[in-house]
Amino acid sequence: MVRALFPGTFDPIHNGHIDIATRAAKIFDEVVVAVYDRPLKNLLFPPEERLLLTKATLSHIENIKVVGYSGLTVAFAQKIGAKVIVRGLRVISDFEHEFRMALANKHLAPDIEMAALITNEQYTFLSSSTVREIASLGGDYSRMVPKIVKEALGKRFLDLGEDQNVVQPTYLRD
Ligand code: ADP
Repeated sequence: MVRALFPGTFDPIHNGHIDIATRAAKIFDEVVVAVYDRPLKNLLFPPEERLLLTKATLSHIENIKVVGYSGLTVAFAQKIGAKVIVRGLRVISDFEHEFRMALANKHLAPDIEMAALITNEQYTFLSSSTVREIASLGGDYSRMVPKIVKEALGKRFLDLGEDQNVVQPTYLRD
């Protein structure tokens, strides 16, 4: 039985993540989608809500389990008996980051392999930060995320009101 770990921030989960998780579930016997609790990133959703949305989106797939985690990803992989860490690759710029991380992880845990799945063409541009930014600016992101995430984003920005500093402007303003 090969168990794979698909770790990420999922702030929030979007269709690109769902595509990778679904494809991984066809390759591996079990995929544990693990939502990192406190990454060094500006977060829109607290860990509990990211976990809840990820669960609501993926738990219907029989061999996918969604959990929260903290600390070293490879330590968590070892703890749950996952032999493979799955990551998604979009553009070339993802590659350098993933390459470094895979080498560091290999150094820490030589028994764990990294499997990178290339994004589906239609999700090449898609990232959580793009979704957050479009949502904060009132654009249409309904084809990028499942309905439950769309509703959660709408509510989050309503709750935040003017206080939207949690969204870092990247490239969709001006
Ligand atoms: P992290 O902080 O670990 O990068 P993310 O939630 O941003 O967490 O991403 C989790 C994983 O999903 C990463 O491997 C990332 O490259 C991958 N990913 C994100 N967006 C896409 C996409 N559009 N297509 C394929 N993979 C993606």
